[in-house]
Amino acid sequence: MIDVAVIGAGISGAAVAYQLAKYKLNVVVLDKEHDVACGTTKANSAIIHAGFDAPPGSLMARYNVQGNAMYESLCHEIDAPYRRTGSYVLAFDDEDMSHIRTLYERGLQNGVPGLAILDRETVLAREPRVNPDVLGALYAETAAVVDPWFTCIKLLENAAENDVAILTDAKVTEIQKIITGGRHGFKVTLADGRFLETKTVVNAAGVYADAVNGMASAVNFTVTPRIGEYFILDKKDGELVSATIFQCPTPLGKGVLVARTVHGNILVGPTALDVGDKDYTGNTSKGLDEVKKQSLRSVPGINFRDSIKTFSGIRAEADTGDFIIGEAPDVPGFFNVAGMKSPGLTAAPAVGLAVAEMVIEHLGGATRKENPVRNTPRISFAELPDEKKRDLIKKNGKYGRVICRCETITEGEIIDAIRRKVGAKTVDGVKRRCRPGSGRCQGGFCGPRVLEILARELGRKPDQILLDKKGSWILSGELDEGGM
Ligand SMILES: Cc1cc2nc3c(=O)[nH]c(=O)nc-3n(C[C@H](O)[C@H](O)[C@H](O)COP(=O)(O)OP(=O)(O)OC[C@H]3O[C@@H](n4cnc5c(N)ncnc54)[C@H](O)[C@@H]3O)c2cc1C
Repeated sequence: MIDVAVIGAGISGAAVAYQLAKYKLNVVVLDKEHDVACGTTKANSAIIHAGFDAPPGSLMARYNVQGNAMYESLCHEIDAPYRRTGSYVLAFDDEDMSHIRTLYERGLQNGVPGLAILDRETVLAREPRVNPDVLGALYAETAAVVDPWFTCIKLLENAAENDVAILTDAKVTEIQKIITGGRHGFKVTLADGRFLETKTVVNAAGVYADAVNGMASAVNFTVTPRIGEYFILDKKDGELVSATIFQCPTPLGKGVLVARTVHGNILVGPTALDVGDKDYTGNTSKGLDEVKKQSLRSVPGINFRDSIKTFSGIRAEADTGDFIIGEAPDVPGFFNVAGMKSPGLTAAPAVGLAVAEMVIEHLGGATRKENPVRNTPRISFAELPDEKKRDLIKKNGKYGRVICRCETITEGEIIDAIRRKVGAKTVDGVKRRCRPGSGRCQGGFCGPRVLEILARELGRKPDQILLDKKGSWILSGELDEGGM
C-alpha cells in the first residue's frame, strides 16, 4: 500500500507532491492527460496576485497572501522564472475610485504589504501608455508574474527527483474505501483497469474535482466551468506596459488585464463566461472582441495586429464561492484541493504546504529526508553571456544548433527537456519546457525540427509523435520516395 495518491498534475497537485517529496513517503501523482500541467494550469493570466481581491476571512485570501510571500524563493529554489512587476487597478470615475478604496481596505485586512492609492500623475509617470483619462489607481508592489506550466513541471520534476512516481494517461474512474492489513485506505482504479492501494488520497483534479470527490464522499459540491479568452502579442510590443494593469473587478472576476509576461510578451484578457463544457478551450469572435473592447479602455495603444496567439482557459468555480481545502468531512484520509479558481496559481505553494501537513498528520507523522535533491540545473542558452555560449558549444555541439529562431532555443536545450525527469513526449510538451514555438512564428519553422528530435530521442517513427493530447497526430504516414 502506498502512502499518498495525488490525483491531478496541475499546479495544486504539483505543489502538494513537491512538499510530500521532502519526506520518506511513498507518493504517486496521477493525471488523465498525456502530459502534466495540461489543465487550467496551462491557460491562465500567470499573475501572482497581491491578495487584496478575496473576501477577508476566506481561504482564498489566506492562501493568496501566504502563497505570494512564498513564490520568489520557491521559484529560485526550483529554477523557474519569476518577476515582481507590481500591479495597478485603474479607476476611471468616482465609483471606481470608491471601489479601489474598498480594495485597499480589504487588502489591509488580508495582510497585504506594499499597497498604495496613487493619483493620476503618478500612474501616468510610471505607466505612460495607460489611458490618460485615468483618475487614480490601487498599486500593489508584491504582484508578480511567473510561467505557470513551467513552475508546475519543475515542482513535479523535483518531486520525481525525490522518488515520487508521476503517472500520466492515468485517469481515475473509481475510489473505494478498503481495509488491508488492519489499515483503512483506498483502492484507486484507473480507466485502463490498473489500480493502486493507498492510505490517503489528495483530490487536485481541477474542474473535475467535484466528480473525483463524489467517488469517495457523500458531501457533494459542484464545479462550474467559467471560460476566459486571451490574446498574446509579439515581444516587439513588450514595452507597452511594465506591470499588470487591471480594471475594477466585476462579480464574475478580476476583469480584463493587460500584463507583461515573464518572457516579455504582452498578455491581454480574460473574459469570464460560464460554459457547460469542462473541456472546451476554444476561442470565439465575440469573446475576443470583448477582450479588445475592454482592454483598449485601459491601454488605448494596444495593437492587436501584433497578436501571435489566442487561447482560452477554464476556471473551476465551486458553488461554495471559496477554495475547498482539507479532509472531506465524511472520509478520513481523503483530502480535497478543489474550487481552485483565481488566485489558485498564487495560492498553490501555501496550499501545497498546508495540505501536505494535513496528510502527514493523518498518517501519524513522517520522517524528513536528510538531503532531498531539490534542483537539477537547466541551461537557457539565450540568457548566457557570449563567452559561456562559446564554452558550452565546445563541450556539446548541440548547443550550437539553433532550432527555434524566434526564441533562440538550441537542440541541446530540446534534448535536455526530453531527457529530464518528467520529460517531454510531445511537440507542445517540449514547448512548455523550453519554449520552441512560443515566438512570433508559433512553431511554423521549428515545429518539424522538434518533431524529428523527439522521434530520434524517444526511438519512435516521426508519425508516432503527437502534437499534445492523445490522438493529436501531426503526420499521417510516409510518402513513397518521389511521391506527390
Ligand atoms: C482564465 C483564467 C485566469 C486565471 N488567472 C490566474 C492568475 O492570474 N493568477 C492566479 O493565481 N490564478 C489564476 N487562475 C487560476 C489558476 O489557473 C488555477 O487556480 C490553477 O491553475 C488550478 O490548478 P489545479 O492544479 O487546481 O487544476 P488543473 O491545472 O486543472 O489540474 C487538474 C488536473 O487534474 C487532472 N484530472 C482531472 N480529472 C482527473 C481524473 N479523473 N484522473 C486523473 N487526473 C484528472 C487534469 O487532467 C488536470 O491536469 C486563472 C484561471 C483561469 C481559467
